[in-house]
Amino acid sequence: MARAILFGTSISPGIAIGFAHFIHSVQQKEYLRLNPDEAPAEQAFLRAATDNLCAALQQTIQNVPPDMAEYRDVIAAQIVLARDPKLLGSALARIEDELICAAWALDRTVDTLCAQFRGMEDPYLRDRAQDIRTVGLRLREYLSGQPKPQAPDVPCILVAGDLSPADIIELNLQNIQGILTVEGGSTSHTSILARSLRIPALVNVTGLLDVSAENCRIILDGIRGHVLFDPDVEELVDYRTRQTDYANWEKHCESMSRLPAEMSDGARVIVRANLERQGDLAAVRESGAEGIGLYRTEYAYLSGNLPAEDDLFDEYKIVADSIAPERVIFRTLDSGADKTLPAQAALKEPNPALGLRGIRFCLRHEEIFKTQLRALMRAGVRGNTALLLPMITEIAEVRSVRHIIQELHKELHTQGLPHAPELPLGVMIETPAAVLICDDLAKECDFFSIGTNDLVHYLIAIDRDNRHVSYLHNPLHPAVVRAIKRVIDVAHGAGINVSVCGELASDPYGLALLLGLGVNTVSATPRFIPDMKHMIRRLDAAACTDLARNILQSSDVVESKRMVHESLYKSLGQELTFHTTSLLTRSRYEQ
Ligand code: PEP
Ligand code: MG
Repeated sequence: MARAILFGTSISPGIAIGFAHFIHSVQQKEYLRLNPDEAPAEQAFLRAATDNLCAALQQTIQNVPPDMAEYRDVIAAQIVLARDPKLLGSALARIEDELICAAWALDRTVDTLCAQFRGMEDPYLRDRAQDIRTVGLRLREYLSGQPKPQAPDVPCILVAGDLSPADIIELNLQNIQGILTVEGGSTSHTSILARSLRIPALVNVTGLLDVSAENCRIILDGIRGHVLFDPDVEELVDYRTRQTDYANWEKHCESMSRLPAEMSDGARVIVRANLERQGDLAAVRESGAEGIGLYRTEYAYLSGNLPAEDDLFDEYKIVADSIAPERVIFRTLDSGADKTLPAQAALKEPNPALGLRGIRFCLRHEEIFKTQLRALMRAGVRGNTALLLPMITEIAEVRSVRHIIQELHKELHTQGLPHAPELPLGVMIETPAAVLICDDLAKECDFFSIGTNDLVHYLIAIDRDNRHVSYLHNPLHPAVVRAIKRVIDVAHGAGINVSVCGELASDPYGLALLLGLGVNTVSATPRFIPDMKHMIRRLDAAACTDLARNILQSSDVVESKRMVHESLYKSLGQELTFHTTSLLTRSRYEQ
């Protein structure tokens, strides 16, 4: 049996077997107190380390492969951060004020800044603590005379407290079999990079640095979310077989990703992609997705400055053109809660998840909203596009948006700017209020998109980013299943399309249930689409309907899970173990 097993959050699926290679394991330099006359030299030492780090990062920017061009901006941001007065300025001041050496001053400054960011409600800003930590680590390496992460010349699994995209790009990508970190969040740039490079990765591996040692043998299971240290021969043989089987299975799914997602008894399902950034369009095309079911438009707003209409227009036009003739559903700005704009953070809302987010923010700040709508309407003359409104809780919100669109139509017409006067308008069903009034909403809009990520949380009253209540996260909760069923029935009755764009659609258990409840359009991260299409082809619509009927009658979540598992096992057999599911995680009540 392995010497130890630790659990983490899988942010990129797959299995890696290899030897640990630590990066950023700086030799702890002695912390020194200074005499006042030594402070200037120590400050100069820190300034020189910063200059050297920035020069090295500049060089890394030149080495970024063309297909990863977007990471140039990420690395450029690290250069800015390294010179940021909050980081460099504070550390320099500490040397003088506290009369401590550069390494000590830097560590103290990084700890203080990270604590500030980690305490923030917004996970996007919380994840920025990781950026500060990694820049701090790099500076420490320069101060201790070990300036570069030692590039492994043999394949290895990277182990670190934290990693930045620059760390990964600086290494020989061919040699990185897997990534394990103690810190990290799923929205961090490193996570996004690991997923796009298809490197199996786990973050939040508590105890990693204590249990792991340089060159110790590791099995990283990015499907089930755990890591084995010093596995025995039996485990190695077992995981090597699983690794090969998984790789073959993935290849098989990918080779068939262009085939339509047609269930074994002929029922047709549309599988679209969820996308956050225009830079990931290639992944959509490769995945076999039939269009984009959810284009999250927030990312253009997160850098700090509000984007100009023409910049948004260019972005939306490129997306619409490259996906045409397939549909792209642009969701209007859903800022707030887990995607707070830097300016919104100043509002210091006591509970942002119940605050000025989504459509509420847009209707409160009409000028920001109008700029986006004008860009979307102008891009709407290209391709096949539709609009989707987030966080709807009232009919009045949809009516207000329609009114604004009419006004903008007149305005754009007067200005002689080509635009689509009436794009299909859908609403996200992601609040209990929207579920309860969905019959009225169906009369006001052209389609529904069920956002299960938020719906599950608002229905069960658990903050999606509060790990203390994550054990309650249960999409098979009868309230969730019945709510989804109601929305689907109402949409069908009203003759409008209903799709599901939350994570539940890419979970095998969730997907089977959704299909059984009558959903015929889903969207998910491109990475999961070949697997989902493959699974759909293996499922039988009648069996899924039976399953959903039984689940609807169940008030026992454990029993519901058992039923889904049994039904899926019948259709997929051993293949079921290749799908990453979070629904099998046992809740506190099931121990
Ligand atoms: C959802 O809530 O399910 C959803 C798809 O939107 P987001 O995850 O962007 O809130
Ligand atoms: Mg949502």
